[in-house]
Formats: sequence, structure tokens, C-alpha cells
Amino acid sequence: MGFDCDVLIAGGGPTGVTLAVLLAKRGVKVIVAEKDEEIYPLPRAAHIDHEGMRILQEAGAADAVMATCRRASRYEFRNAKGKVLLSFEGSDRIGPGGWPGANMIHQPSVEQALRTSLAACPEAALHSGWELGAFAEDADGVTAEITTPEGPRSIRTRWLVGADGARSPVRKAMGIAFDDLAFEEPWLVVDMLVDDPARLPTANLQICDPRRPTTCVLMGVGRHRWEFMILPGESPEQVSDDAFIAQLMKPWNVEGAVRLERKAVYTFRARIARSWRQGRVCLAGDAAHQTPPFAGQGMCSGLRDAANLAWKLGAVISGQAPDSLLDTYQPEREPNLRATIAMAIMMGRMVCTTSRWGAFLRDTKMRIGRALGKLPSGPPGYPPISAGAILTGSPGAGSYFPQACASDGAKLDDALGRDAWLIVRDDLQTPGLAPFAHQLTRWFEQHGAEAVLVRPDRHVFGTGDPASLSHAWQAATGLAVSA
Ligand SMILES: Cc1cc2nc3c(=O)[nH]c(=O)nc-3n(C[C@H](O)[C@H](O)[C@H](O)COP(=O)(O)OP(=O)(O)OC[C@H]3O[C@@H](n4cnc5c(N)ncnc54)[C@H](O)[C@@H]3O)c2cc1C
Repeated sequence: MGFDCDVLIAGGGPTGVTLAVLLAKRGVKVIVAEKDEEIYPLPRAAHIDHEGMRILQEAGAADAVMATCRRASRYEFRNAKGKVLLSFEGSDRIGPGGWPGANMIHQPSVEQALRTSLAACPEAALHSGWELGAFAEDADGVTAEITTPEGPRSIRTRWLVGADGARSPVRKAMGIAFDDLAFEEPWLVVDMLVDDPARLPTANLQICDPRRPTTCVLMGVGRHRWEFMILPGESPEQVSDDAFIAQLMKPWNVEGAVRLERKAVYTFRARIARSWRQGRVCLAGDAAHQTPPFAGQGMCSGLRDAANLAWKLGAVISGQAPDSLLDTYQPEREPNLRATIAMAIMMGRMVCTTSRWGAFLRDTKMRIGRALGKLPSGPPGYPPISAGAILTGSPGAGSYFPQACASDGAKLDDALGRDAWLIVRDDLQTPGLAPFAHQLTRWFEQHGAEAVLVRPDRHVFGTGDPASLSHAWQAATGLAVSA
């Protein structure tokens, strides 16, 4: 039986569609099966970071997203009296990914931008109303049963990716359990359409009031988000009632400035699947991990999974790399997820304190920390890749390679393209690199390097002399590199 596609992706959320676009741009034939007819309409992500924007750039969706997102320079955690406990400044500044550090968005608009990019890829097709059911793996591929509006059909694929969300039927079918990181809090999420932006906060806020922990953040143009912790004894139905929401909104004094658009109740959780690859099946995005949203990293993490998987699957499918390259996916990504989730849990515990005594202790601890200058001024950097397809031991190996931007706004990734790069310090004045020479020189000085090999997902493979780097890259991945 012939193959219908190289990769079948179950789930047309942000992870699945991003992966599909990145694969299709590498010439991989992809089918995305999405069970729903429409993009998920309820409130979810409101923030995407600079790394996520860089991945959207590769997917061809960044400009459309930038056109609708807003930025706040401050992210503040305040106590019940309005005193600032913790403040992160400068989140609107350009981050290492070459885009502003924090971009406030409307997730369905981001997903629509990704789907528009996908529609322009002849190698990829997204089918709405297609629900993946049972699947069976053999030596050469996977046969999946799909329910479609036209009736059942089988799809034969070389690889299957479950990007099918937190409830992932693919993960369940494979019997993969979660490592539960012990965070579970129910919240009501409310998105408002904005009529009078001048009356709304300009910073992103966590109100650490034990009587009602509350989040208030910007979203994409024309919207603002409030989230309210559901207290013991309250039911989801009770808190979702419009009259109840109106009461919750009263202290914000925004009547007439905003209109309720949509609402949802979620239980925020922290979990990591124990295995992200079994044979010809991989998991990505919420199917592989879930984080409470306090650091705004769930969707961003799914995009990073897609960036990590895309070049590896592309190399394996084209026959250049052995399929063992895919064994590096989880060891590379999981430590990043654990750090991201730990950060979100730390923030979540700070916000979700509902005892007055606990809040008093927290506020005192923060006051002392502030007086001693021990509070972080921004989210910590996440750990570099420490095991996987990297040249361990060479300076900078596994770290995130920043995207240099030229004075005319040109970006390094657009100039150098989607494959791996071998950048030699002595070549920085050549026409392709000269506009970025200033920032690249600084990177080389910091790492004392003669040359760097940057992987397609923009992590550093290693540094050293150019010939040894090319050789080591080819040995590790089977891929050649052009200087
Ligand atoms: C309140 C809230 C706030 C958040 N804030 C942020 C934030 O600020 N920043 C951030 O980065 N993240 C945030 N997130 C997280 C973010 O929304 C998710 O991490 C992201 O949507 C996950 O994307 P995904 O593609 O992996 O999964 P999903 O978006 O869940 O997509 C999975 C898709 O798979 C489909 N599917 C399921 N089963 C099947 C099947 N059998 N066959 C075919 N299709 C199937 C589903 O219909 C769905 O469309 C937030 C989440 C919530 C709830």
C-alpha cells in the first residue's frame, strides 16, 4: 500500500499547524487531521514570546501576528493593597529571538495566520472535521483510521505526530502516562472587547489578593483579559454566570469601557508525558506537556517542539539522517519544559495563595527580598540544551543563538534561510553577513569562537574550527552544511 503522506499530524492547533508548515517548507508531504470544523473559539493564550515569534517568522505568519498584537513594558505582581511584590520590566524590548520579548495576542488570530501560511504550502493539507481514531504501526509506517464528514477512511503515513492537545487520544492510545507536577487550580477566564482603551491598565497584572486571586492582561488589538481564581465552594456554572462576572469586574471600574466577548472555566495543570516518541509516533505541544498559564508559555512551548521536530523529521524522511536523530527530541526539549513549568508553578503559587496568613508571609518574604535586591527583574533564562544533537563541551553548545537584526530592520534568519548555518568569524564582512556583523562579532567575542554551527531550530550545535564543525555536524545528524 502506498503512502498518502510522510507525516500525519493529529490536531490542527498551533503546534500541529506550525509543525505542518515547517515540514512542508522542507518538502515533506503532510496531512493535518483536525476533528473540529472551526478554530477553537474560547479564551486561551494571550502572550507569545520572542522565540515563538521567531518560529512564526519561519512559518511565514509573524507579520500577520505582529499587525494585531500589543505590548506592555511591565508585568507586575501586586498584593491586596496594591503594593508591588514583583515587577518585570522591559518586556516590550527586543529579545534574543529578534522580536519583542512579550507580545499580547488573541490565539484564534494567531492560529488563523498559521492556517493562512499552511494554505500556501502545496505539500501540506489541513482537513477540518477529520477525527483520528485507531492507528497501527508496522516496520515502514503507520495506518490511521480517520472519521471524516464523507465517511471513514484510512491514511497511510511514514510518521504520526500527536499534536492533539491535553486530552491527546494519540498519547492515550499509546498508553503513555503523565508525570504529574502537582499543580491544580480552577480559574474562570474572561475576554473583553475594548471600547475605551484609555480606561484600562497598561501593565500586565497579577493581583495576589487571597480573597480573589486575579489576572488582568492585555491581549491583541481590541481585547483585554481577566482571569479569576474559583474559590472553594464555588461551582463553574455559578462563576460563569454573566451577573457573577459583572460583580467580579466591579472593582476594576471599567463598566462602559469593555464588553464581555467570551468566557471559559479551566483547571490549570502541570504535567509532562513520560515518553514523547515511541517508534514512528511522536507527541508535541499540550499532548506532551501542560503548564499553568502564569508565564504564558504553553503555546510557545508547543511552537518550540515543532521547531525541534521539523528539521529532524525532515532529515529522517529525506534519508539523510538515521531515525535515531528523533531520539534526541525529548532529551533536548524536556529540561526546557521542566524549567518553564517550574517558573509557571512558582508564579502560580505566589498568585494562588488564598490564606491571609500565607499571603502575609509571602508579602513579607517579597519585601525582604526587594530590600536585599534579591528579586529577579525578569523571568530567568531557560536552560540550554545539554544532551542531544550538540557538540558537547564546545563553548556555547546547546545555547539559543540570537537573531541579529540590521539597522534597516532586516533579520538574520531571512538572510540565511532555514537550514543549518556555519558562520565563520573571518567572513563577517561578506555581503550576506555584513549587515549583522556588529551583533555577530559580539557573540563571537563572548564565546571566544572562530566559527559557530547553528542548527535549523537556532540552537548552537557547537563552536570550533569550521572543518571540524562540519564534520561533527554530519556525523551527528547526517546533514551537510553550506557556509
Ligand atoms: C486560560 C489559558 C491561557 C493561556 N495562556 C497562554 C499564553 O499566554 N501563552 C501561551 O503560550 N500559552 C497559553 N496557553 C496555552 C495554549 O493555549 C496551549 O498550550 C496551546 O493551545 C496548545 O496548542 P496545541 O496545538 O498543542 O494543542 P491544542 O491547541 O489543544 O490543539 C489540539 C487540537 O487537536 C484536535 N484534536 C484532538 N483530538 C483529535 C483527534 N482525535 N483527531 C483530530 N484532531 C484532534 C483538537 O480539536 C485541537 O484543535 C493558555 C491556555 C489557557 C487555557
